[in-house]
Amino acid sequence: MGTLQLEVVTPDKTVVSSAVEMAVCPGVEGEFGVLPKHVSLLSALKIGGLRYRIDGRDEYVFISGGFADVNNDVLTVLAESAELAQDIDTARAQAARERAEKRLAQQDDRVDVARAEAALSRAVTRLSLAQLR
Ligand code: ATP
Repeated sequence: MGTLQLEVVTPDKTVVSSAVEMAVCPGVEGEFGVLPKHVSLLSALKIGGLRYRIDGRDEYVFISGGFADVNNDVLTVLAESAELAQDIDTARAQAARERAEKRLAQQDDRVDVARAEAALSRAVTRLSLAQLR
């Protein structure tokens, strides 16, 4: 059926660079799948898991939001942070979740609620992706 090239890149590193059978991305307007021969597309991504199929098995990558570009059988995902499900440090994500929950529970005008909610969402998403590895 053919493959497309998946590149998941952050400012620090390339997290995935592989020929894959398909990928499903966490688009801001819902998940979307990308198969070989997909039309060109540019989409914003939200915090979520990107799933891709390689050699018949599914792999998962955490994506902190960013952009996906599809062009000529290359899917490029640019994210502020990303890591393979197998590389997720669950103790760190648990600590981040507790920190964010404490901040959100405070009745304090100095708490940046949107920032704490985003941190909570990253932590919860990492913890759920870590279950899938
Ligand atoms: P923390 O508060 O624990 O730093 P965060 O959500 O603020 O969490 P990010 O800004 O998304 O962290 O990521 C910073 C860097 O740390 C990135 O390189 C990211 O891949 C890595 N990272 C963050 N949390 C984890 C985790 N639980 N397991 C593995 N890598 C992580």
